[in-house]
Amino acid sequence: MTFAEIILPLAVQSNYTYKIKPEDVAEAAAGKRVLVNFGKSKIYTGIIKRVFTEIPDTVKDVTKIKYVESIIDEHSIVFDVQFKTLEWMAYYYMCTEGEVLKAALPIGLKPKSNWFVRFAEEDFDWQDILTDDKEYLLFEAIATAGELNVSEVDELWAVQNPMPRLKKIEEKGWIRLYQKMEEGYKAKMKTYLNLHPDYQDQNRLEEALNSLSRAPQQENVLMHIVSYHLQGQLVGKSELLKQMNVSTAVISTLVEKGFIKEEQIAVDRLPEKAENQKATHHITLNPAQDIAIAEIRESFLSQPTKPVLLHGITGSGKTHIYIKLIQEMLKTGKQVLYLLPEITITQQIIDRVRRELGSRVGVYHSRFNDNERVEIWQKVCNKQYDVVIGVRSAVFLPFENLGLIIIDEEHDRSFKQDTPSPRYNARDIAIWLGYTYKFPVLLGSATPSFETFFHAKSGKYTLVSLKERAIAAQIPQIATIDMRKEMKEKSTKGLFSSTLFQAVQDTLSKKEQVILFQNRRGYSPYLICMHCGHVPECVNCDISLTYHKYKDYARCHYCGHTEYLQEKCPSCGNFTLKKQGAGTERIEEEVKEYFPDAVVERMDLDTTRGKTKFQRLIARLEAKEIDILVGTQMVSKGLDFENVTLVGVVNADTLLSYPDFRVQEHAYQMLTQVSGRAGRSTKLGRVLIQTLQPGNMVLTSLQGDYEAFYEATVHQREELMYPPYTRLIRMEIQHPQQIFIEAEALRLNMLLKPIFGENLLGPDYAPIARVRNVYRMHFLFKLTKNFSLQKVRTAILNAINQYYQAAPNKTVRILIDVDPM
Ligand code: ADP
Ligand code: ZN
Repeated sequence: MTFAEIILPLAVQSNYTYKIKPEDVAEAAAGKRVLVNFGKSKIYTGIIKRVFTEIPDTVKDVTKIKYVESIIDEHSIVFDVQFKTLEWMAYYYMCTEGEVLKAALPIGLKPKSNWFVRFAEEDFDWQDILTDDKEYLLFEAIATAGELNVSEVDELWAVQNPMPRLKKIEEKGWIRLYQKMEEGYKAKMKTYLNLHPDYQDQNRLEEALNSLSRAPQQENVLMHIVSYHLQGQLVGKSELLKQMNVSTAVISTLVEKGFIKEEQIAVDRLPEKAENQKATHHITLNPAQDIAIAEIRESFLSQPTKPVLLHGITGSGKTHIYIKLIQEMLKTGKQVLYLLPEITITQQIIDRVRRELGSRVGVYHSRFNDNERVEIWQKVCNKQYDVVIGVRSAVFLPFENLGLIIIDEEHDRSFKQDTPSPRYNARDIAIWLGYTYKFPVLLGSATPSFETFFHAKSGKYTLVSLKERAIAAQIPQIATIDMRKEMKEKSTKGLFSSTLFQAVQDTLSKKEQVILFQNRRGYSPYLICMHCGHVPECVNCDISLTYHKYKDYARCHYCGHTEYLQEKCPSCGNFTLKKQGAGTERIEEEVKEYFPDAVVERMDLDTTRGKTKFQRLIARLEAKEIDILVGTQMVSKGLDFENVTLVGVVNADTLLSYPDFRVQEHAYQMLTQVSGRAGRSTKLGRVLIQTLQPGNMVLTSLQGDYEAFYEATVHQREELMYPPYTRLIRMEIQHPQQIFIEAEALRLNMLLKPIFGENLLGPDYAPIARVRNVYRMHFLFKLTKNFSLQKVRTAILNAINQYYQAAPNKTVRILIDVDPM
């Protein structure tokens, strides 16, 4: 008998064993997808991890094991490297292989079945029977749509699980419940025209053409198709219609007469654009870049598994170095993965890379739809792409022959997935991959994470530095503006200091562009009642509501709850609510008022929903159609525009003072990145930062070098036992009832404290104690180097098991975040 270990892309405890039907045995192989029955007779897509014949010890009764329903793939779509990665991630991040696979595979590669409902009989007279409200809603919806996905009934009835109720209605004989596969990946089809096989020999063809002597249009079209046929090519139907300017009727007639036939052929969704085919031109590196790249090569050669940190200030030309190294690697026939933060993967950078490297470059981005992602997966699988530029989930792509991974902006938080599990950091996975498969990994940043810099300074990573800008004559001047002083002197204009106001005016008059940064979206981050001091909060979460002027509502950024409050305080009823603080929307409004002739646009989550809006804003900025761009951290990264010479930070204070041990590191990184947008060409750039705390060491360090800032800050971390001197694991427990959660946290604490002692902090409420009506408490494990990570894992998992075994109530959810950010 033949068995297979199947990984299901679900949050299930383990992998499962299935039997392979005798007729499928020859086809069964690791890395192929299969359909299996799982749980309450639902069909899921899983992946074969292993095929074997000995009966596993865990199996008591072989007859009870289910068969794999069918094998989907002809060729494997996941390889040994990926299986090893899944295993390691499940171990390191304390989750299951199924959870990792769920994050790894594009949805289109894992179709599953779903329950649907329709009328038991077509002509069911539902309006004539006596129904209650719920039934009425259901029948009405079925009557309109024909069939309903059961998950739509959830919404219709506003209940969590409509199944029991639906079953009852089914018992009455009114409706029928049934399962259907959801649609997975669908190839994009295109219609081509070809000569019919019957007319492919010379004599028949002449006969056909003769018969058309009085229908010149048909004759022409047929001749056109014949000429393509003789070259072994097909003609696209839509191209032919356009090119020959004929109607579809002409083609239909030819098909009816049997001279030609239409063929549906799957086409590529990701065709290479013509402008990408330009001949590659050569970059000449400047002397500083030459030295840096020589140092990198030397490290790659002598110690291939040692990661290299390229620490280069913004604009120092790191990208050209990456491209050169990629070119060199491709010559050896290896694959390259180039990871970038989500929002720096712009058309600008893609074009730049494709210009240099040609069309074998794939892009893997979350803005792509599912079918597109499946195609990229397949192209990596078929070795059609040698290079992939991608976001964090690109580390899962089915590479078999990686020679190099580059992670630009390695400190960026978007490489870390917070939710759901696996809470992984793609940078760390890249480093693990390089170490395990013995190829080099290159990290790049102007402001490396303290963890990375720590390793670079200790010699665990090779450190290579670039200290000058590649083309700009000078590094931009950074100045802080003391808003206390400006307010005292009453020289401010709304949210603007006189200095920033003047600078904007000067920049506009020189026909140069301005970026204004504020790390808050919406109009004002909170409202406050001038009468009773009440701050309206979300009903579901412990957080204040953000006011959005455009929609005139107050909204929770955690759960989406909205309230239309106008001026009325929900607590005392007076019409005295005032908008406090400033988000991007308010800044945009003020800027438009003060600079009525300037073209002002805003770039934040609210203005960039949808696939193309972000890209359009960037294109317009590049074309100098925008004078002032107001935005959140979206404007801080990667943008490279020669005409932007002023960057204003409207309020640095929120960045400088939120409760996190990394606050200084993050503020420095963010402000450096925003500053890096100014003066990228030969024009001198200026950066103005408004603040109430001009003496803050982050601000006073900004103009200096990063290493000095690191040295001055990192020692606090050592005293307080934070990374890079320790490792952290965060454990969060969640429950909808507050009394309950506190008691349960204490029970867990009793199990954990004896093992971890001083190294365990908590339980405390999470910074936002309640989100979507669920209370959240957490523990923090601070693990010094003398803890064995393996023992720590075992201890934590044992404690959780023990806890659940004894717990009166199993509804507490426990989440684990290894290396939280
Ligand atoms: P970084 O990624 O380090 O911030 P970039 O690679 O984006 O810097 O380079 C900044 C600017 O300098 C870009 O406009 C780039 O085209 C230009 N540049 C970099 N290296 C060179 C070079 N060797 N010759 C000419 N221009 C260069
Ligand atoms: Zn909320």
